[in-house]
Amino acid sequence: MSARPRFDRGHTDDLITFLTESPSPYHAVASAAGRLEKAGFRQVEETASWDGEAGGKYVLRGGAIIAWYVPEGAAPATPYRIVGAHTDSPNLRVKPVPDTGAHGWRQIAVEIYGGTLLNTWLDRDLGLSGRLTLRDGAHRLVSVDRPLLRVPQLAVHLDRSVNSEGLKLDKQRHMTPVWGLGDVSEGDLIRFLAQEAEVDAEQVTGWDLMVHSVEPPAYLGRDRELLAGPRMDNLLSVHAGTAALTAVAGSGQGLSHIPVLAAFDHEENGSQSDTGADGPLLGNVLERSVFARGGSYEDKARAFAGTVCLSSDTGHAVHPNYAERHEPGHHPMPGGGPILKVNVNQRYATDGSGRALFVAACERADVPWQPFVSNNSMPCGTTIGPITAARHGITTVDIGVAILSMHSARELCGAKDPYLLANALTAFLGD
Ligand code: ZN
Repeated sequence: MSARPRFDRGHTDDLITFLTESPSPYHAVASAAGRLEKAGFRQVEETASWDGEAGGKYVLRGGAIIAWYVPEGAAPATPYRIVGAHTDSPNLRVKPVPDTGAHGWRQIAVEIYGGTLLNTWLDRDLGLSGRLTLRDGAHRLVSVDRPLLRVPQLAVHLDRSVNSEGLKLDKQRHMTPVWGLGDVSEGDLIRFLAQEAEVDAEQVTGWDLMVHSVEPPAYLGRDRELLAGPRMDNLLSVHAGTAALTAVAGSGQGLSHIPVLAAFDHEENGSQSDTGADGPLLGNVLERSVFARGGSYEDKARAFAGTVCLSSDTGHAVHPNYAERHEPGHHPMPGGGPILKVNVNQRYATDGSGRALFVAACERADVPWQPFVSNNSMPCGTTIGPITAARHGITTVDIGVAILSMHSARELCGAKDPYLLANALTAFLGD
């Protein structure tokens, strides 16, 4: 019998905590690292030399984390089983000269990050989070998780056609949040955030800051069968992957492979960065782990050839008001279990053998699953799966969870799906 836990509603309760404590990718990897530390994993520095000892380890780089568990006696050519995900979500990010304003209002200049649904940021109470970089290169996380900013929508009286012709938002002119009244003072925002983070503002010479909704996630629906909250795309997968990896590492079971969690930044704008899936981070970590166990290039090639990756990200549940936008024979539902994402043009990496691998994991976990494919007349999204497959030559399967309102400041999923996914990932990483 398996010694591993079986995730249930408590996992979704914990996801609410994870979402709340992770307003930025930097916070998300810190939250994941905290959970890994509790499970006995230890951080290894990329600049240090690595040993080949058994146990759980992780590398942190900016908004990315790679964690892996080396079983006792693992040979250098031991293959990996990877759960892939991403830590970033579309949002509004602070510009290099943040302090701006007009007509007596104090405002913060923002850029648009990723393909966010602009209207969902209007008339929400917003906080600010991210990291401050100090003169000595150290980072400090900062999060102001209380109402601080708002992007006010124009009153209907001043935009009479808004309900008949739709809302038109100009990214430069209409998305600048207000954060108070009075004269604009250069350096104001950073002085304020330095105080919040309890650092000397003079020491803050760099920052990566973003806006988030301060409304906490909440169960929704007659039977509370839905969950509304921010950043489910894709912290839902990061959280499930972290839970699955720590469960497998803690089970004390023998493994013939090395389970890995790879959570990258910058998926929402194409993954091309030193912390993105299209960078060398994952390959470097896996390769160094082979070499640390005394392996050769040949061992690395053997390990990679036997490696498989489940790349988990959100997909579209069927929208009851727009069902014609979905593929009529493929209608994933919230609560129906993880989805298998297919696109023959390789927007998703799944093929028939990948499907079989995913089905096997779901069967072992006794979890239902649902196929997803786009309507031929609609453009298909993509994710880190095809990049992982192409960059590292690793068999990859795109899976995830069906949600509504993807890229909204507040998305909607089934309350069961996070733990059904976690159970499927645990079976994949553990058996
Ligand atoms: Zn995503």
